[in-house]
Amino acid sequence: MNRLSDIGTIKDILSRYGFTFSKSLGQNFLINPSVCPRMAELSGAGKGVGVIEVGPGIGVLTNELCKLADKVVAVELDKRLLPVLDETLSEYDNIKVVNADVMELDLHKLIEEEFQGMEVVVCANLPYYITSPVIMKLLEDKLPISAITVMVQKEAAQRICAEVGSRQSGAVTVSVNYYAKPEMLFNVSAGSFMPAPKVDSAVIRLDILSEPPVDVYNEKKFFEVIKASFSQRRKILANSLCSGLSLEKSKVFEILTDCGISENIRAEKLSLKNFADIANHL
Ligand code: SAM
Repeated sequence: MNRLSDIGTIKDILSRYGFTFSKSLGQNFLINPSVCPRMAELSGAGKGVGVIEVGPGIGVLTNELCKLADKVVAVELDKRLLPVLDETLSEYDNIKVVNADVMELDLHKLIEEEFQGMEVVVCANLPYYITSPVIMKLLEDKLPISAITVMVQKEAAQRICAEVGSRQSGAVTVSVNYYAKPEMLFNVSAGSFMPAPKVDSAVIRLDILSEPPVDVYNEKKFFEVIKASFSQRRKILANSLCSGLSLEKSKVFEILTDCGISENIRAEKLSLKNFADIANHL
């Protein structure tokens, strides 16, 4: 069993290093011993595979990934955790810890330098405050990776994994589905973390598509349309598009008619193809 998920071990490490949790960095560390082995296994980490982990904390998930993968590169922003990780990962020679903000990092360069000839996956218990930006960066950067397995807030997981065109779908659902096939893996209760957050979490896996499922002429426009469409959920699509894209109502109605989309429809009812058609008409 991974001793790092044991509360006694964590408390000992924290007191020896004088570490205090930073709320602003989303530091909720896993203390449920069953979660990390399961997550690592389902992430695709294995022989011939390199793993990028975002936010290793004290290394509880990193340990499991190092057991399975050929190489793990863990990106941690909090400098105070570096000596801790030196100690907790000392038995592995296939780990590299990079002290950086994942949002600022050139991940193409990192993959090229660290994972030559390997299949690459991402596996992380993401800090809550940047869940969507991290996921969108990983997707939008079009990295040579095959899957992203992440723990996020349960509501965010449900939104990402909702069916496009269903009431639960949102801008993130449509955007993620352009790049990947999302799948809900399992739920993790708030009590599995120290300190315990207010909400439950879930682990999801995004399998990267080799090609987008719809033809889009201008991706920037496509994502602008998605953002504008969901910007005012209670409004009908036509009104959201008018205000979100600063277009005349007559122009929006013309585009919707050309695309065969009802004038009174709401954004959550649209398919990926509908969004692509609107963007391509613009
Ligand atoms: N993996 C550990 C676990 O499961 O117990 C810790 C997960 S904790 C939810 C999130 C981690 O991400 C923290 O270690 C935090 O310091 C780190 N972090 C926060 N913002 C980051 C950023 N922008 N780039 C890299 N790491 C970040």
